Amino acid sequence: MAFLIDRSGFILTDENLLALGFKNIFAVGDIGSILERKYPKSGVYAVKQGPLLFKNIQSLIKGKSLSKFQPQRRALALISLGIKKAVASRGVFYASGAFVWFWKNLIDKRFMRRYQ
Ligand SMILES: Cc1cc2nc3c(=O)[nH]c(=O)nc-3n(C[C@H](O)[C@H](O)[C@H](O)COP(=O)(O)OP(=O)(O)OC[C@H]3O[C@@H](n4cnc5c(N)ncnc54)[C@H](O)[C@@H]3O)c2cc1C
Repeated sequence: MAFLIDRSGFILTDENLLALGFKNIFAVGDIGSILERKYPKSGVYAVKQGPLLFKNIQSLIKGKSLSKFQPQRRALALISLGIKKAVASRGVFYASGAFVWFWKNLIDKRFMRRYQ
């Protein structure tokens, strides 16, 4: 059986992150798109889906009910411009410049340290 995909080719899932039509295949992060939910492909969402995926795999094995992923409505996007400058955007607000890059760099380094 093939995966159902959205217009951009990403695997469609239900709110439990299960690929539509499958009882034991999850699709999370950039590769998955929850049916009728709009949120950007961003590390913010991928990272938050990780613990839920872990929990849902455990629940599936134990025969328990699965938990739903609720994507946050807005997230801060920090995009590097490659010249030690970056753009920050959240909803209708934005800022750009060297200070945004410095801020992004601090956040990224702190995040990476957690995995070392
Ligand atoms: C340039 C750039 C900058 C970004 N900056 C930000 C940012 O500042 N903040 C933010 O929140 N998000 C950012 N994103 C988005 C973020 O990186 C992704 O949303 C996030 O990495 C998705 O995580 P993922 O685990 O789904 O996929 P990935 O992180 O892409 O992980 C997929 C992994 O699968 C591996 N893989 C692929 N094919 C196979 C295969 N056949 N067999 C085995 N392994 C395979 C890949 O090598 C990779 O390691 C950025 C993306 C890009 C491209």
